[in-house]
Amino acid sequence: MTTLDSTLAKTHASRALLRCKTLSAISQMQGGIHREYLSKEHKECNETVSQWMSDAGMQTWQDEVGNQWGRLRSSNSKAKRLIIGSHLDTVPNAGAYDGILGVLLGLEIAALAHHLKLDLPFHLDVVGFCDEEGTRFATTLIGSKALANNFDPAWLNIPDSQEITMHQALLDFGLDPSDVANAGLNPSDILAYWETHIEQGPVLESIDQALGVVTAIAGAKRAMITLIGQSGHAGTTPMNLRQDSLTGSAELVLEIEKLASKAENGEVATVGQIFARPGATNVIAGKTTVSLDARAQHDDDLDNLINEIRSRAELIAQKRNLSLDWQWTHAAQAVQCDSDIQALFTEACRLNNESSPSLASGAGHDAMATAPICPIGMLFIRSPGGISHHPAEAVIDDDVTKSLSVMFSALCLQAKNGLNG
Ligand SMILES: [Zn+2]
Repeated sequence: MTTLDSTLAKTHASRALLRCKTLSAISQMQGGIHREYLSKEHKECNETVSQWMSDAGMQTWQDEVGNQWGRLRSSNSKAKRLIIGSHLDTVPNAGAYDGILGVLLGLEIAALAHHLKLDLPFHLDVVGFCDEEGTRFATTLIGSKALANNFDPAWLNIPDSQEITMHQALLDFGLDPSDVANAGLNPSDILAYWETHIEQGPVLESIDQALGVVTAIAGAKRAMITLIGQSGHAGTTPMNLRQDSLTGSAELVLEIEKLASKAENGEVATVGQIFARPGATNVIAGKTTVSLDARAQHDDDLDNLINEIRSRAELIAQKRNLSLDWQWTHAAQAVQCDSDIQALFTEACRLNNESSPSLASGAGHDAMATAPICPIGMLFIRSPGGISHHPAEAVIDDDVTKSLSVMFSALCLQAKNGLNG
């Protein structure tokens, strides 16, 4: 068996969508969806998903960091684990599908494998990660980093907005802070990690495709770039005697847009903040800071773009008699999706008469945190309007059915390939 009966696919996809709605109601926010790490809603959500996992014939447990697991056991004594998952936490005023749908589709795949009595040569593990968004403790991907043995004990001291530390919140939740590191997995036990996720961008919609095979999760670098000139009286300082940091920054902002637009491998760069000081209508700005967020699916492309931006900033500063200060605030390397898994997903699409356009992910995902311990693969589902992290976040029902069919075929192909991928 490599493809799923279409009625069965539709039934299970509909159930996943219905359950997204059910989980939407488990919210710490009135009139919207918000579910953060170690909240009572996190616990309630895990309990609900755990019950669904049991109903699907899975063995269930919550791990030391608060991730929810279900396992469809293999009869093979040497079985490794194929992990399918995503996250169950949300940003404030979230949509219903970001992360959640990936977990529930994994659950439906397991329910189908159980129902059809598939004899899998690996354990099929479905995971609902406890924290991907990082809205409570100002650090992201806590659940998946813990899995990859990258939980930093220093995080335990981070307070939330109510001054409750992660240490205390773990205790309140019923978890042992000294035990969190034990959530880490042994890489030799894992076959792969697969994640289905809404695209959260407009690319698939723009090419009229339901699904996309992810090639890489983009690397990102962020900096605060300050140009320093001389504040002066707006009335008495002639134009040719000015050292205006704001007009210099304006020129830089447009250069950043130009450089990213002509980059050839999908690089993007954004200036989202600008601070001009002293910030008065009748004073020439002496000091202006702009933010820079640049991303690319290959680290060398990102470095090239950043180098170009930096040399352009130096040139502008020189030309306008300003000085330049460049402060890095964030750097994350690009993570490549496993080429064999990409080929597997592409073949699974073909078996279901679906196209399989390749695209990179501009946003971060749990898959990037699990990449250090196993090969990763991601399948994207079209996001109508490219909207996400917003109540208007949506999916097309038929796209969800297609994604379930493709993931089921991928599971069958993987089972045929046995333990060696
Ligand atoms: Zn997500």
